[in-house]
Amino acid sequence: MSTKTDVKEEKKNLNFIEQIVMGDVEKGLNGGRVQTRFPPEPNGYLHIGHAKAICLDFGIAERFGGTCNLRFDDTNPVKEDVEYVDSIQEDIKWLGYQWENIYYASDYFQQLHDLAIRFIKEGKAYVDEQSAEEIAKQKGTPTTPGTNSPYRDRSIEENLDLFERMSKGEFPDGSMILRAKIDMAHPNMHFRDPIMYRIITTHPHHRTGNQWKVYPMYDFAHGQSDYFEGVTHSLCTLEFEVHRPLYDYYIDQFATDEYRPKQREFNRLNITYTVMSKRKMLQLVQEGLVRGWDDPRMPTICGLRRRGYTPESIRSFINKIGYTKYEALNDVSLLEAAAREDLKPRATRVCAILDPIKLVITNYPEGTTEDLVMENNPDNETAGTRIVPFGREVYIERGDFREEADKDFYRLSPGGREVRLKGAYIIQATGCEKDAEGNVTTVYATYDPNTKSGTEGGNKKVKSTINWVDVDSSVEAEIRLYDRLFAVENPSAEEGDFRDLLNPDSMKVITGARVEKSLADAKPGDKYQFLKIGYFNTDLDTKDGKLVFNRTVSLKG
Ligand code: ATP
Ligand code: MG
Repeated sequence: MSTKTDVKEEKKNLNFIEQIVMGDVEKGLNGGRVQTRFPPEPNGYLHIGHAKAICLDFGIAERFGGTCNLRFDDTNPVKEDVEYVDSIQEDIKWLGYQWENIYYASDYFQQLHDLAIRFIKEGKAYVDEQSAEEIAKQKGTPTTPGTNSPYRDRSIEENLDLFERMSKGEFPDGSMILRAKIDMAHPNMHFRDPIMYRIITTHPHHRTGNQWKVYPMYDFAHGQSDYFEGVTHSLCTLEFEVHRPLYDYYIDQFATDEYRPKQREFNRLNITYTVMSKRKMLQLVQEGLVRGWDDPRMPTICGLRRRGYTPESIRSFINKIGYTKYEALNDVSLLEAAAREDLKPRATRVCAILDPIKLVITNYPEGTTEDLVMENNPDNETAGTRIVPFGREVYIERGDFREEADKDFYRLSPGGREVRLKGAYIIQATGCEKDAEGNVTTVYATYDPNTKSGTEGGNKKVKSTINWVDVDSSVEAEIRLYDRLFAVENPSAEEGDFRDLLNPDSMKVITGARVEKSLADAKPGDKYQFLKIGYFNTDLDTKDGKLVFNRTVSLKG
């Protein structure tokens, strides 16, 4: 039994949209039912902004024992494609959500068309033959009324005839539109005779083919679709708040019962150093400015997945930033922090050397190797251990050796300090070999056999520990390091072409890196922490013995 205080407590933990829904359920609105929908237009891949809507739509249905449907808002054949329909389903499932039903706004084309005819018959709609520019000029401003179209008062018969002929494809695209006849002086600009239908004859629809020559506008389709489906809470982003009265108006014109879907709005997700618009992302893809929708620099769900983000890390980020009534710009470092937190106990810790130089341990017996036992993840008891081969020759990072070193350099230098090879022995550099240009090619060192990690001598403390991989057993890898896609914090707020704001150094590809043997069989999606370097995801390009890793995020923000 829950008491009044329990309910109060519970309410405090809900976001403001959940509180609204809870209030509605308590009041028994629409029979106390909760039904939501996630309504993407299949004109691009989902981005992390959509994840915010998905978490709310599906989350609310889950929390209140309701249902959430996936509805494709496919009312504009010019930009839509089945490729997007498929990817959207894949991404929602990957995020961990399951819809009750899949619907398409295009399933309602007949119903909507019938409704449009009913509007015409009731004197609530007319066909306007003016150009888009003329219509725009007549809109007025929020403080001055608009001007009536000269076609506003044509007869019902003429409107019916024209709309029928529009629907048959007798007129070219853009030559006329069907408008609602409401009020050109209405204080809400969206009521100034909004467009209901437009002609599109030039593009077949991805589901209905060439059956339709006229297509409903968002405002005329969305609320009606919600109503047809029985949606109780139609959640969308803040820019639709001004559309809400029109959403209600259209439904009021034909609804035959008490039931009403309720539109409520929350803030869009915006993240620093990226763009969150399908139109802009499509441009980046089409112009080859990124490697595809799933380029790990993209804010798309598939890009983040390829980068190494898990569904849990994305959901945890969305949960942390929350839902408000005010637009904001969230710092990308919050997203990165969520990835680190999630990957820390999950990612196996291994050695990778990005810029290898060979190190020969001259006093280590030739022709011998030993198997060292390494912990897979000290932050995860269940992660177990693995065997890492160690021998006379290893690769170390070029930067971990200096021929001439000052007292502040704690790593390898001839005659300098003792250094521990991670999980192995303490060594001391004795010299090096260089090529004609003076680049170091081989470092020489000696080791102390009594300092093996995991033995008593392993406790000997030294100032620094460096990474290594065994020369014989390690494997080559390509490593892709990513930086911000854009050079400015809020590219959408800048004037000019957003493409000029791309960060020219957003991707660095390192070939010839070496990773330890245990990574030889890494499969796309396998996640690692490369010690000292960051969290990495095995890339989709990994195949036939070629290893590719993406840096998800560095170890520290
Ligand atoms: P874009 O401008 O990127 O094309 P959109 O709003 O046109 O986005 P839709 O496919 O129409 O994309 O969006 C489906 C749902 O996702 C809508 O309910 C929309 O409000 C929501 N949504 C889209 N972008 C964001 C965002 N950045 N943050 C939160 N919700 C979003
Ligand atoms: Mg849209």
